Amino acid sequence: MKQTTFLSDSDNNLNVCARALSNGELVAFPTETVYGLGAIANCDSAVAAIFEAKKRPSFNPLIVHVSSISDAKKIVQFNERAEELAASFWPGALTMVLPRLNDCGISLLVSAGLDSIAIRVPTHPLAQKLLAKTAHPIAAPSANRSGEISPTTAAHVVRSFSQISMQHNIIILDGGACEVGLESSVVDLTGEQSVLLRPGGVTSESIEAVIGELKFAASENCAPKSPGMLSRHYAPKTPLRLNAHSINEGELLLGFGPTQQKVTFNLSESGNLVQAAANLFAMLHDLDLKTPSGIAVMPIPLEGLGLAINDRLKRAISPKTEN
Ligand code: AMP
Ligand code: MG
Repeated sequence: MKQTTFLSDSDNNLNVCARALSNGELVAFPTETVYGLGAIANCDSAVAAIFEAKKRPSFNPLIVHVSSISDAKKIVQFNERAEELAASFWPGALTMVLPRLNDCGISLLVSAGLDSIAIRVPTHPLAQKLLAKTAHPIAAPSANRSGEISPTTAAHVVRSFSQISMQHNIIILDGGACEVGLESSVVDLTGEQSVLLRPGGVTSESIEAVIGELKFAASENCAPKSPGMLSRHYAPKTPLRLNAHSINEGELLLGFGPTQQKVTFNLSESGNLVQAAANLFAMLHDLDLKTPSGIAVMPIPLEGLGLAINDRLKRAISPKTEN
């Protein structure tokens, strides 16, 4: 039976948290906005554990937390607006969506298949200490189960994750109540027009004072930017065929679970859905690079993270309306 462990913010406990993160485990930690459910961002299986714990029905991209602007520049491609916003609001409650660098080392699952990464430098001293001790970027959505409101105290996190069956232990680092108590504002800077994807801790007026007019993702003249609908959303160029039990000529097979079939890759030989989620985007990329005439995917059960995996695969086969 997996469990939540509650830790006070002593230096020793911070070391425990940093070690747990480095080992691929989950740590809920305070930021100035809300509590985040963190995992090191360069480890597919650790990131998959976040989705499992939150019971998310689909893979939304996660915010990557780093300690400094220079660390952010190792992960995403800055532009002029990003420089100005970082200088004005970092560390702080502003998340910027920017193109991911090819060699950034961040799990593809963090981007949920997009070619961008949402990134932020938190100002909370415990978040900063944890980043320094862990020495890895930390991916963290809000530390609540999917569909619940964001936690602003450690007690909220405990309430959300205790008494549910989990496949992973969660350490909860208590840093008191969050100062801002609102999620970070998320600004997409990947296009020529800056788009406010989510209003949050930094007001749109103060963002506009720095980089000029923002479009609002929710407004009519702006296409919906939910991650699954983004034009840059990764879908393999190769046609996908789901629930395949064998391959047709020219196809490569993406397996799941124990099988006699000749698979090119297996998402999880043991049939573990968390492992399958961790492998999904990287294996789709690698299969695409082999330019087969089709990718056949074996059935993946519609339970646990299998829901999100199937959701993602279905999006990849549905006709694209944007490009
Ligand atoms: P949360 O998981 O509660 O921290 O929320 C993170 C927010 O950032 C969600 O609204 C995500 O959809 C958004 N987000 C994260 N990464 C990206 C990205 N690469 N592109 C667009 N939106 C993103
Ligand atoms: Mg959230």
